[in-house]
Amino acid sequence: MQEKVITTSFESLGLAPTLVRAVAEQGYTQPTPIQAQAIPVVLAGKDLLGAAQTGTGKTAAFALPILQKLSAKNSHPIRTLVVTPTRELAAQVEQDFRTYGKHLALKSAVIFGGVGMQPQVDALRRGVDILVATPGRLLDHVQQKTVKLAQVEILVLDEADRMLDMGFIHDIRRILALLPATRQNLLFSATFPDEIRKLAASFMKSAVTVEVARRNTPAELVAQVQHPVGQERKRELLAHLVKSNDWRQVLVFVRTKHGANRLAHHLSRAGIEADAIHGDKAQNHRTRTLKRFKDNELRVLVATDIAARGLDIEALPHVVNYDLPHVAEDYVHRIGRTGRAGAEGEAVSLVTHDDRPLMAAVERLMNRKVEERVVAGFEPGTRREEPREHQETRGNRGQNRNPGRRQQQQPRHGQPKRTGHGQHQQARRGQPQRGRSVDRLTAEQEAQLAEARRRMAEEGESRRNSREPLLGALLGSKR
Ligand code: AMP
Repeated sequence: MQEKVITTSFESLGLAPTLVRAVAEQGYTQPTPIQAQAIPVVLAGKDLLGAAQTGTGKTAAFALPILQKLSAKNSHPIRTLVVTPTRELAAQVEQDFRTYGKHLALKSAVIFGGVGMQPQVDALRRGVDILVATPGRLLDHVQQKTVKLAQVEILVLDEADRMLDMGFIHDIRRILALLPATRQNLLFSATFPDEIRKLAASFMKSAVTVEVARRNTPAELVAQVQHPVGQERKRELLAHLVKSNDWRQVLVFVRTKHGANRLAHHLSRAGIEADAIHGDKAQNHRTRTLKRFKDNELRVLVATDIAARGLDIEALPHVVNYDLPHVAEDYVHRIGRTGRAGAEGEAVSLVTHDDRPLMAAVERLMNRKVEERVVAGFEPGTRREEPREHQETRGNRGQNRNPGRRQQQQPRHGQPKRTGHGQHQQARRGQPQRGRSVDRLTAEQEAQLAEARRRMAEEGESRRNSREPLLGALLGSKR
């Protein structure tokens, strides 16, 4: 497959000279594998299931042939509808349509929530050939009768797996019901779980499947490394890595919106230009922040998975998993941000003891180990290390020098249960734990520990010296 792609040109895929010129102006010299496979299928009018993740060039894989098909006519009812999970992706996809279609007379528009309806209504009224939309806002327009979908000829569901993850399945079904029965359907998804297959089977006809990177295969050019570190030193380690390696453009993934804000704030205070992007930020703030990042005014962009989904940042050199994702597949999406379109990238994960089961899940998914490298001065168990690290090797129990800090490392309330922390919360409630490593405390031990600590606190005894003998007793009794 690779060799075939190397010898393919955009012309030979059947694209018109105006489109070939537009991609050449973007500096694309040859189609990516998904483009080489998908473009002829879409031009032939067939339904298509595209297994491709962000970073493979999938947007051009559908945008180029769609532009070519639409350019045969010059009227402006909505003839192509592209539905995407996030505003950022919607905006990027529409921008790509503009870029590739710049020598054509077609019109496109993008509609998403979080901004005023009226400018969108005005744009729709002026006439649009290609509409890119997020599901909720599209249905708002349907309800207000400000969008007409009766002449849609081509439907694209982009990042379908993510749309399902985000709970858009009902919206998608409602949108499908509003479209003319005779149309061409394209569905792109990084993964194909059963729900996606079921959804596709429900509305696609004899779809051609094209697949590029094997499912769950991270971009080959991405170098991956994990740095073991204690939870409370993660921020410091990140600042250290950015500064000492002179990283200029770093996308950092965190789990929560608050975590994103806090980390961006901390980095800024450490003299590193940083900002956060997540669902609670106003759209214009997100757009502005992304622009500053792309323009190299921001060194670090801290993002949650959902906000980062679909961010189009070319040749991003560094992705950091500050928090590992709950779902191993998200790791693959994340590192797909780097090493794009032939550029080399590095994906760095900061891994605490509690994160280890998550990292193990990622490694299982990718069927490969991620190199572990301890950063000098940030070895787990040094200085302000959290005591949980103490459990890593039972033979080293005596190394734990700061047992009292355990209390400060309690999980934040409201964190989802699938995290490492969540597992400990479960443990304290005495519930069974899944996927727990043998060197962790059992639920019963955690309960005993909590009870003993409570008693000692009541007795006014310093917590500082409490954990180690307790742990020793607990672990010793188990052995
Ligand atoms: P996508 O997977 O659609 O998000 O595209 C990933 C990135 O690859 C975008 O920044 C595109 O501009 C870029 N790209 C798409 N097609 C090509 C190509 N044939 N050659 C080089 N870069 C491309």
